[in-house]
Amino acid sequence: MKSQDIRSKYLEFFKSKGHTIVPSAPMVLKNDPTLMFVNSGMAPFKEYFLGQAKPPNTRLTDSQKCLRVSGKHNDLEEVGYDTYHHTLFEMLGNWSFGDYFKKEAIAWCWELLTEVYGIDKDILYVTVFEGDKEDGTPMDQEAYDFWKEIVSEDRILMGNKKDNFWEMGDQGPCGPCSEIHVDIRSAEEKAKVDGKSLVNEDHPQVVEIWNLVFMQYNRKANGSLEMLPNKHIDTGMGFERLCMVMQGVQSNYDTDVFTPIIREIETISKTEYGKDEKVDVAIRVISDHVRAVAFSIADGQLPSNTGAGYVIRRILRRAVRYSFTFLDQKEPFIYRLVNVLSNKMGEAFPELKSQKQLIQNVIKEEEMSFLRTLDQGLVLLNGVIEHTSDTVVSGEKAFELYDTYGFPIDLTSLILREKGLELDEAGFHAAMEKQKSRSRSASEMSTDDWTVLIEDDIQEFVGYDTLVTPVKITRYRKVVSKKEGTMYQLVFNLTPFYPEGGGQVGDKGYIESPNGNVTYILDTKKENNVVYHLVKELPEDLNSVLKAGVDETQRFRTSCNHTATHLLHQALREILGEHVEQKGSAVHSKHLRFDFSHFSKVTNEQLQDIEDFVNARIEGKLPLQEQRNIPMQKAIDEGSMALFGEKYGDTVRAIRFGKSIELCGGTHVQNTSDIWHFKIKSESAVASGIRRIEAITNDAVREFYTDSSKIYFEVKELLNNAQDPIKALQNLQDENSNLKKQVEALLKEKAKNVKGELKNEIETIDGIQFLAKKVDLDAAGIKDLSFELGGTLDNAFLVFGSEQNGKALLSCYISKSLVESHKLNAGQVVRELGKFIQGGGGGQPFFATAGGKKPEGIPEALEAAKNYVVKA
Ligand code: ATP
Ligand code: MG
Repeated sequence: MKSQDIRSKYLEFFKSKGHTIVPSAPMVLKNDPTLMFVNSGMAPFKEYFLGQAKPPNTRLTDSQKCLRVSGKHNDLEEVGYDTYHHTLFEMLGNWSFGDYFKKEAIAWCWELLTEVYGIDKDILYVTVFEGDKEDGTPMDQEAYDFWKEIVSEDRILMGNKKDNFWEMGDQGPCGPCSEIHVDIRSAEEKAKVDGKSLVNEDHPQVVEIWNLVFMQYNRKANGSLEMLPNKHIDTGMGFERLCMVMQGVQSNYDTDVFTPIIREIETISKTEYGKDEKVDVAIRVISDHVRAVAFSIADGQLPSNTGAGYVIRRILRRAVRYSFTFLDQKEPFIYRLVNVLSNKMGEAFPELKSQKQLIQNVIKEEEMSFLRTLDQGLVLLNGVIEHTSDTVVSGEKAFELYDTYGFPIDLTSLILREKGLELDEAGFHAAMEKQKSRSRSASEMSTDDWTVLIEDDIQEFVGYDTLVTPVKITRYRKVVSKKEGTMYQLVFNLTPFYPEGGGQVGDKGYIESPNGNVTYILDTKKENNVVYHLVKELPEDLNSVLKAGVDETQRFRTSCNHTATHLLHQALREILGEHVEQKGSAVHSKHLRFDFSHFSKVTNEQLQDIEDFVNARIEGKLPLQEQRNIPMQKAIDEGSMALFGEKYGDTVRAIRFGKSIELCGGTHVQNTSDIWHFKIKSESAVASGIRRIEAITNDAVREFYTDSSKIYFEVKELLNNAQDPIKALQNLQDENSNLKKQVEALLKEKAKNVKGELKNEIETIDGIQFLAKKVDLDAAGIKDLSFELGGTLDNAFLVFGSEQNGKALLSCYISKSLVESHKLNAGQVVRELGKFIQGGGGGQPFFATAGGKKPEGIPEALEAAKNYVVKA
């Protein structure tokens, strides 16, 4: 069965059991401070499990893109070495939110595997949670009993807390699970070793394919468990592993999910998969990583130096490293695989198709820059090796190479090994640990349990319509971090404060108690659909009705910038073309930033057109037309643009100003005229094919013009109030360059005269024409003098000293014949004489210069110069 059919069979099966099929959520998480990437099917549904939002149906099914490269689930280092762990993989899931529980989940799992997919019962094992004394959790008898009805008891195995108890984090919903394992070994091997003994033993042909999680507990901050009022089902089956079983192969990489990519790698690199283990590992690494990187870029996460972007950069670099070392690829080539990937998966994941060009560009650029790093790193590493007298190379130096220059450590040890040297690995790991603990302690955070004052699940956001309103605190908790110190998060029954999201900053403001005490809200954020407000201290009276007010000025300025961002987006598509797609946006109160795909620099004329386009819409006084809670499809039909990598609900909010329509949760002005004016401050490149525009509106533009005009008048005054200051400046510049030319000519003239005078001062010592003299010339003058004077002599040794702007200069000229006959070297001479002037320098054997901090040392240096001739 083809992989496409395997995927759709799964979804169709659960659809027939009353589930709604939902698309994969974006893999890169934007509003979850606890997780960078979706690492399991349940991550996008967290808020449903926590009861903080309502799912569109109590039964859902999907295939979710997952990435396991950081945090609790990190499979990165395994990938390539085994045949069944990937960085990016698809997790097929069926979900029950307070609906069916163990009985149905187990029965349907078995029906799908054995009847729909027709997998032989005799290669399957199931596991059941055995209980845990420490947690006080009993064995999962319930699951055992359901399994017993359909599976023979010798195929039901007991599993411990590590394998059979699932938790999404230190806190929150969790519960026992049952895993399905397959044994795809040959009959011969099965006869030798019982499959049972290989379950959960990391055997490449006895692997877990599906995990059914029965969420029945909630883990509190103190570690204790309480029963959940509503029990849920969360299942996850590895799509690629299922394909391996269904296609009768022994490795995920031999399924049709991977073989087209592997064939392409073979063709490009002229290698063959399956001949040499080292090459095989490299090919697996590359075919896996190109998927992870391409999907991330399509989701809007570009490689970068921090956070999620850095993780993506590291994955790509790992692929480059393997292709560089084991496939001998010294030129970018991973980007060339994107074509096959998008052909293969573009149907199920259209974002790959529509963004192919961008993905290719970004990957190619990254590859080129990392290959350069590798080249430089090789040079640096050779330097380190030259300075090592021992056979062991310092781990700290290797760490520096790794940390500062991005030079991979395994490449370092490989090269060292080839040269018969050894790496001090302990030293390397110590340096690494030191740095890790430094960054860990900076980001460490502890979070208390919520203190609930009022039971109230769904909190209402009223901030589109009102900025001041009475509120009650429903719950609060303390969070302590190194960076911010102690803070409290307050949740209200309703809130006018906009929480950070969709690129827009969170609102600030205040809450005021009946007796007039004011507590400042420093920021507003959202986690799992709950808006919380950050305060430094808890209000005294937590239980009374408080007056909550948003900082209106900040909100107004932010809204101006948000509306202007929409108009800018429209302008870009209008003026640069429809290929422009939003790639990032930051809306602050003081400025806005907009990143978008476009393949060349935006010219000054285009920028002017864009600015004019936006300002024309501001002058056009376009009113805000807002539609809340309209069905997604309706919004799209009316012309709204949905962004890749954004998660939308079934109903959305559409914001229209004239012809600009966007799906947006942010705050906006009532009329574009409120913005007053829009001004672009800069245009630059963020990455290959991604440009950035920074702009300001309203008060910031006023300030900008006030400042600019102040500067203008100051400049004008400096130019003696010239009628036309630009012309006056040009005149000054012309005058200046004329004067420069004159000065140069004069200096040349002076040097000539000096030359004549100096010629008389030359002494001849042992046939060498020697002169050491202080002159009043700059570096260029000294050089001219040296060569002109030296050119007229046969065996010249000339040393000049000069003081310029409080600094010392030394030069040494030696005729080429002398350099050879007397083994003299001007570079060495100035280096040694440089000590007298507290400086250093160098150059060639026949001419070199040194600069220094101590002009008083010049006479001494000139005195010492004679020694070279006498010695010679
Ligand atoms: P394993 O022990 O094999 O690493 P796991 O216990 O980490 O698996 P779960 O977290 O239960 O796996 O995820 C559910 C399913 O997702 C697994 O049964 C497996 O089929 C699949 N899966 C997990 N990790 C990966 C991965 N890195 N690559 C491909 N599939 C995976
Ligand atoms: Mg795992």
